[in-house]
Amino acid sequence: MSEFVIHDATVLTVDESNRLYENGTVVVSDGRIAEVRPSEPGDADLAADHVVDGAGTLVMPGLVNSHSHLELTGLLGAFSEMDTSELLVQMTAIAQRLGEGAYEYLSTASYELAALNFIRGGVTTVNSMDARPEHGVDVFGEAGLRGFFGPWISDLFWDVPVDEQFERARTFVDRHHDTYDGRIRATLCPHDDWSCSRSVWERTADLAADYPELPVHTHLLELDASDTMARANGGADSLALLDDVGLLDDRLVAAHFRVADDEDVRRVADAGAAVAHCPSIFCYWNPDGDAPWTPVPELRRAGATVGLGLDDHYWHDSYDLFGEARQARLAATLDSGDQQFSSMELVRMLTIEGARALGVGDELGSLEPGKRADLAVLDLSDPKFAPRTNVPAMVVNAASPADVETVVVDGEVLLRDGEVLTMDQDAVLDRVTAAVDRFADETGWELGPGGADPPGGLRTAADLPKRGPAHLLARLGVQSVKDAFPP
Ligand SMILES: [Zn+2]
Repeated sequence: MSEFVIHDATVLTVDESNRLYENGTVVVSDGRIAEVRPSEPGDADLAADHVVDGAGTLVMPGLVNSHSHLELTGLLGAFSEMDTSELLVQMTAIAQRLGEGAYEYLSTASYELAALNFIRGGVTTVNSMDARPEHGVDVFGEAGLRGFFGPWISDLFWDVPVDEQFERARTFVDRHHDTYDGRIRATLCPHDDWSCSRSVWERTADLAADYPELPVHTHLLELDASDTMARANGGADSLALLDDVGLLDDRLVAAHFRVADDEDVRRVADAGAAVAHCPSIFCYWNPDGDAPWTPVPELRRAGATVGLGLDDHYWHDSYDLFGEARQARLAATLDSGDQQFSSMELVRMLTIEGARALGVGDELGSLEPGKRADLAVLDLSDPKFAPRTNVPAMVVNAASPADVETVVVDGEVLLRDGEVLTMDQDAVLDRVTAAVDRFADETGWELGPGGADPPGGLRTAADLPKRGPAHLLARLGVQSVKDAFPP
């Protein structure tokens, strides 16, 4: 008997030819897609645990959030009104404390809230880099989701001893990689190219050699400081440094890539590396008004894989990955002119390209026989979807998490008729509310319906890392002088 059959639905396969069935059937058996085809009389009588009449719905692959941070999800709303510099100060203080092991209650409750909302929004795979990802593994595993997790490593951002960070990274991989039937996988996460020394990149390369099946997940070319720090680290620029240490290859998932030039685009495409584009975060906050926009059209023309991500979704208060596709389009148009992407390309970036970025494009990301059964069913009965002209455009321009009625991961039904079956929603909400109250009591943050007020400067300063940022600023300063006065 099959686990799941949906018949008489619109089916967007996202296969190589972007096949769309106006009246299609998807059969799931043993956790995999068994059949995708036009509906036939009798499909309603197939034997399955769940037989769904798909009339008025759209079946598509589950969405892949290809770059995110989840452990502070409970602080949604806390950062919404801040400017970039205040945001960074407050976040740095909290991150330092997370690195020391504080706020575990908030972190665990945050993973629960994130998992609940991602299931409800059709997101079936999340790639997350956090200070303490071990708090999220069981949450995602038991909720039935697919998660790629890794602890971030940096020696110039915070004061957590770097030996301890590498030890933690190795332990995390050994304990958690390939658990929950392969739904939970580990990643190696040097944080970024502006707050890691050459030694962190070299040690990451050693770790990557020990675990050749793991993706290497980082932030690259986010700021002008990215290339400056790479030069301070003895590289010609950021990508040259990664190439020097042996990390510029098809295992690399690089968030942002915003200040990339044509040469960077070519090198990342030639290496088979992937970019995770997170447009909302940089439309909400813009640390440098003169910085160029991420060259996504150029990356795609060069053949690079580009997934979409929500990044720190609690900074911009959104679980809506459909919205990232729309934002990617709007930002590209503003930067480069009309029609930089077709709607179908954006659907591919939400699904199969995100899967490819994580090295699992052969297993996930499209509805094709043999692939793992990760799918989302959208209710198209809302009048905003009428008439049914151009389904890919509806997905990226009009769909929202509220339209998702059913979600299947690995053949398990996680959401049915809008109800999450694998989590106790009320308990999750109670726990996160209690965790945020406790966090406010402990830290001096004021958090409530009227908004948020962070603790005063002295209290925040006490939590800020000192040694790491001092080294970071010194190195950037020295390198800037060297750049200004070449020998
Ligand atoms: Zn990020």
